Amino acid sequence: MINNMKIVNGDIKIKNDKINIYFTTAEASIDYKIGLGEGEKSINILENKLNLKKIYFLKQIHSDKIINTNDINNDLIVEGDALISNKRDIGIGVFTADCVPVIAYDKEKEIIAAIHSGWRGTYDNIVGKTIDKMIKDYGCSNIETIIGPHIKECCYEVSMEIVDKFNEKYNYKTKSRNISIESYIKEQLEKYNEVKKIDNVNLCTFCSDKPKFYSYRKEGDLAGRMFSFIFLN
Ligand SMILES: [Zn+2]
Repeated sequence: MINNMKIVNGDIKIKNDKINIYFTTAEASIDYKIGLGEGEKSINILENKLNLKKIYFLKQIHSDKIINTNDINNDLIVEGDALISNKRDIGIGVFTADCVPVIAYDKEKEIIAAIHSGWRGTYDNIVGKTIDKMIKDYGCSNIETIIGPHIKECCYEVSMEIVDKFNEKYNYKTKSRNISIESYIKEQLEKYNEVKKIDNVNLCTFCSDKPKFYSYRKEGDLAGRMFSFIFLN
């Protein structure tokens, strides 16, 4: 169980001093899918509700591209799959429906990160690369991480080609076609002495009933999106 984790209006909320983390669910029927207008509106509502100057998000492309919010010009939506920030009162987040949202932060250095790690991003080690950047760019040495709700081994069947790809590259070995993406993410995090904590919300977006999540595997293209984000205040 994660310290200070609560369900507030259907969303998973973790508050730890100045660190605020949210994993939205499908309980409140708020869809953060960007592109049809609704998602953008939902983000604006969040900014106002939480009194944040801005919430940054990316056009996610299943890559290993990491963006620092300092490099974003205000109205542009940049492509990438991880965000890093050193600012207070701004949020950074990623959209998911089955993929893995990972949040990382260093409380002392006041550096935060939000990562979208689907199977492609996980294969490309986007989580490890983001941790690397936090260490190299900001000298982070006390990093805590949380793996958010995603489709877990119980429900995530992939092709043997994908299993073989992962087994060739990583120490963790998958023995069936059901793959545990979080096991690879843990392996990526455990490489760093600077990562002091790896927490896991431990909920499957496909089969969890309470809370309910949007699931791409279950609902296809029409699936809504959850938003996982962090801010410092
Ligand atoms: Zn499941």
